[in-house]
Amino acid sequence: MLIDYEEFARRAAAIRARIAVACAAAGRVESDVELLAVTKTHPAAAADWAARYGLRAVGENRVQEGVEKRALTAPASAHLRWELIGHLQSNKARLAAQHFDRVQSVDSEKLLNHLDRAAGELGKKLPVLLQINAGQDPAKFGAETSDAARLLEVALAKPHLRVDGFMTIAPLGGTPAETAAHATRTFQALRQLRDDLAARFGVSLRELSMGMTGDLELAVAAGSTLVRVGTALYGAREAQP
Ligand SMILES: *Cc1c(COP(=O)(O)O)cnc(C)c1O
Repeated sequence: MLIDYEEFARRAAAIRARIAVACAAAGRVESDVELLAVTKTHPAAAADWAARYGLRAVGENRVQEGVEKRALTAPASAHLRWELIGHLQSNKARLAAQHFDRVQSVDSEKLLNHLDRAAGELGKKLPVLLQINAGQDPAKFGAETSDAARLLEVALAKPHLRVDGFMTIAPLGGTPAETAAHATRTFQALRQLRDDLAARFGVSLRELSMGMTGDLELAVAAGSTLVRVGTALYGAREAQP
């Protein structure tokens, strides 16, 4: 069951307020942090509400679900950017390149090859983020930090891809205090990696996609430019099959 639009608007305002407080504490400008509404498992109306509220982007973690949902959104939501935030298999790269405006979960050279070829065939330049397992979480996808420079070098050489920056997911587990400490280390590590690689390769790599419902303040403190929020906007998800 999806909440109604008024409830969505209240929750979105509460998240923007959390972002504003975190920005103020970090001496950052609020407009530098975008809110990405994570609509996975929710119906197309979830994306319509994000658009109606004025958000510019939604995130999905499965290609097929995102493609179908996007086709069901209202004409007034046409300006929304659709971003793939979940693991992508090479055999779905073409579909993803066709229907998503950015892929955040690029974590291998093989995937770069597939996405570049597909984008070329589609005659588009596809924006991507490189997903880095900056928290060294064995349960998470993402390239290892030690492979990031090589992966970036390959990505920057792709004619049909545009590398906007990096994405990471903080590891779960432990007490709340341990989880928070680990999240902060993860986010700071990705920020440092970005700063180092941007300097080394002479590129901007502006986007740092990090922070979710439970840890967005920690991510903003570490330099996040894009927080991906599902639960705090739409409520708890039912388990995905
Ligand atoms: C589901 C998901 C989110 C949203 O998480 P919440 O805790 O519901 O805010 C963010 N990022 C990724 C990669 C996800 O899969």
